[in-house]
Amino acid sequence: MENVSDTKDRIYKLSDQHQKDSLEFFRKLIKIQSENYGNGKGNEKDIANFVCDALRPLGLKGRFYEPAENRLSYVAQLEGSAISKSTNLALYSHLDTVPVGNLDDWTHPPFAAVISEGRLHGRGTADNKQGIASNISAIKYLVESGVELKGNVTLLLVADEENGGNLGLASVLKSGDVKPSYCCYTHNGIPEDELAPFFLGLGHRGLIWVKVSIKGKAAHSSRKEEGLNAIYLMSKFVQRIEELRVPVNPHHVVPGGITISVNMINGGKKNNVVADTCDAIIDCRHIPGFTSADLVGIVNDNLDRVRVETGNFTSEVTVISEAESTFVEQTEPIVSEVERVYREFNPKRIINKAGHKATSDSRWLLKSGIPTAFGLAAEGKNLHGPNESVNIEHFLESIKMQASLIINTVG
Ligand SMILES: [Zn+2]
Repeated sequence: MENVSDTKDRIYKLSDQHQKDSLEFFRKLIKIQSENYGNGKGNEKDIANFVCDALRPLGLKGRFYEPAENRLSYVAQLEGSAISKSTNLALYSHLDTVPVGNLDDWTHPPFAAVISEGRLHGRGTADNKQGIASNISAIKYLVESGVELKGNVTLLLVADEENGGNLGLASVLKSGDVKPSYCCYTHNGIPEDELAPFFLGLGHRGLIWVKVSIKGKAAHSSRKEEGLNAIYLMSKFVQRIEELRVPVNPHHVVPGGITISVNMINGGKKNNVVADTCDAIIDCRHIPGFTSADLVGIVNDNLDRVRVETGNFTSEVTVISEAESTFVEQTEPIVSEVERVYREFNPKRIINKAGHKATSDSRWLLKSGIPTAFGLAAEGKNLHGPNESVNIEHFLESIKMQASLIINTVG
């Protein structure tokens, strides 16, 4: 029987021989627009069909999920020879991107997939089409090498990550027919700086969005003493939130504690009328254990403190949206498997095992009991901004890293 390192060498050799094909495939993904505008507005139909067409000839069995029109996710499985008792490794990447924003801010057109100075430029190059391209390329060279796997590999190529994942990964997992043993979330890992540590992500903070409405009393502004100005009341409340520090014990995985930011405000009706209403939207980022009830309690407490200062007024606090903070323990096998691959590629490089301050789709996996770690993918530059790009060498390295993970876990 061939030993593991010979098997890997054969796959790596194929990957090296076909670097141009891998890059060309990646470029095609960039040229297929899949912007997610939020509020259910997005379209992953073309890109989902494209990835399906790439995977079918390789012998993968796949299925589309379309919880809303044109919001397609594609899940494909490469079946191993010992399906019933063996491991099922999932690789995750998302099909949608954030919108391009102002085209004038881009040096290279965002959908032209321009190659310049060792980088591929365009919307989605880093977030997260490098993941799709490397997942599929790793599978392609593995299949072409003729390696027989024992376990299964599941590719989760999903819609709607950029707007919370309800029309993407959440709907896929809700179906109940995807149950990997664990998942590698191929969103980052190989940093831009050659000396920076490899990143191995273990979890992330959660978010809670709350709307605070204050009711005052309208009056002619020439007799403003007869009114109760809701904007003034809100400004006192906002000032309190700005100065607030929520005391919490640091979490052993998820960084950043509790932060609360007032991000939108809307008040008043007319130039010459004392404002009788003012609404504010609060974005709270939090660590495990903190709940929306905790946040509503903090908000109401601060509204009460404003009342002590100003006299009574009516207020309402509504939770608009929330996402849990979730994490994976370092003792989970997927963490050591990702670490093992990094060590194999660069034994000297430090590995930074940490949580993210921002939230992600990984919470859907972790909530479903699927241990998930981030890594083995190119990090890139300017995610969500103009001039997004990825280092091509890092992308090519990530293909081999993912192939190695597959062989180590299900080979
Ligand atoms: Zn993103």
